[in-house]
Amino acid sequence: MPLYLPSTRDVDQKWYDKFDKSRMIAEVARPVRERIAEDIEDEDEAQKVLNDYLKPVRFTFGVCPRCNGRGGYVDPQIDGNGLSNEDLADADFRSDYFAGAYDVICDTCEGANVVPVTDDESVKNALNDLLQEAEDFEAERAAERRMGC
Ligand SMILES: [Zn+2]
Repeated sequence: MPLYLPSTRDVDQKWYDKFDKSRMIAEVARPVRERIAEDIEDEDEAQKVLNDYLKPVRFTFGVCPRCNGRGGYVDPQIDGNGLSNEDLADADFRSDYFAGAYDVICDTCEGANVVPVTDDESVKNALNDLLQEAEDFEAERAAERRMGC
């Protein structure tokens, strides 16, 4: 039975902790700073990176990857695992669904449609690593479920 894909993918790792729109600077999130420091062998150097990244970095605004700039999406509790043909066979549900009746405000951009994006290579690489790790973990769990664990 074909499944409709969820309208959104969970991207909950943000590279920033907070950002200042008027000055266009953001603070790098702790998990990202830790990931950057992990790759540095020299302890003093690693510590410096951890502290340095507490300093704000410049950013621009880019389309929110979670809601694709829509500012919201269908509540993941509704279609987070996809929808079956049976779900969509319910005419009331289907028209409400496509009319946006189950839409919620985007968690990531909080309805702003855009999110801070940085050009900082080490921040970008660290974030990719973290997202990859989360994806691998999910894939492993899904494989375990298939094995009946
Ligand atoms: Zn968004």
